[in-house]
Amino acid sequence: MGIAEQTRHLQEQLPAGVSLVAVSKFHPVAKLMEAYGAGQRDFGESRVQELAQKAPQMPGDVRWHFIGHLQSNKVRQLVPHAALIHSIDSLDLLETVNREAARIGRTVDVLLQVHVARELTKYGFTPAEMESLASDPRLTGLSNVRVRGLMAMATLTDDEAQVRHEFAEAHHAMYTLKQGPFFGEPHFNIMSMGMSDDYRLAIAEGSTMVRIGTAIFGPREY
Ligand SMILES: *Cc1c(COP(=O)(O)O)cnc(C)c1O
Repeated sequence: MGIAEQTRHLQEQLPAGVSLVAVSKFHPVAKLMEAYGAGQRDFGESRVQELAQKAPQMPGDVRWHFIGHLQSNKVRQLVPHAALIHSIDSLDLLETVNREAARIGRTVDVLLQVHVARELTKYGFTPAEMESLASDPRLTGLSNVRVRGLMAMATLTDDEAQVRHEFAEAHHAMYTLKQGPFFGEPHFNIMSMGMSDDYRLAIAEGSTMVRIGTAIFGPREY
């Protein structure tokens, strides 16, 4: 199947209430346009510079998702383009995004990254850190960021039970925040989890947004 067919196939296959972010990192704009032609509007990039280069080359109704590790010195370049930043992994970073968003007069939607994988290299708040975060006034007191939910990545493993367990842990962290600082906030409703190899498991464990690259675009090119 080509890119357009794969995109349509996924869009049709995902249950209602689960949205698709096409992860286009390392792929040229021509390929993104094939997915766009199939109706795809949400695209995910993991490097700020690449996102900032592609954004002006794509139609204006594309929603850009930032899914990579975000360094504070890149926030200024990212904020004008980002519809949703998935990778907030510290309150300092949240405050930096808030400051830059205020500077240009907009509000940016963000997700908190929760660290549930066994790998030491994945970023994010551990579920225990999430608990103490829940009582920090900075989490809900910033005027130019809106926390929409959580993002998680599972360990890269064939052990499905392990992957499911990690996704369930992430979903539990979401639930905890929903009962706590975001109680009654209808916009706190995005659980971003699931990639090409594990999105079915993620959906079974409560994902509302999957981030899929390889299954749409094939192997990354550069
Ligand atoms: C690259 C990436 C994806 C997409 O991975 P695929 O296996 O190509 O679907 C999803 N999420 C994050 C955070 C990524 O960096």
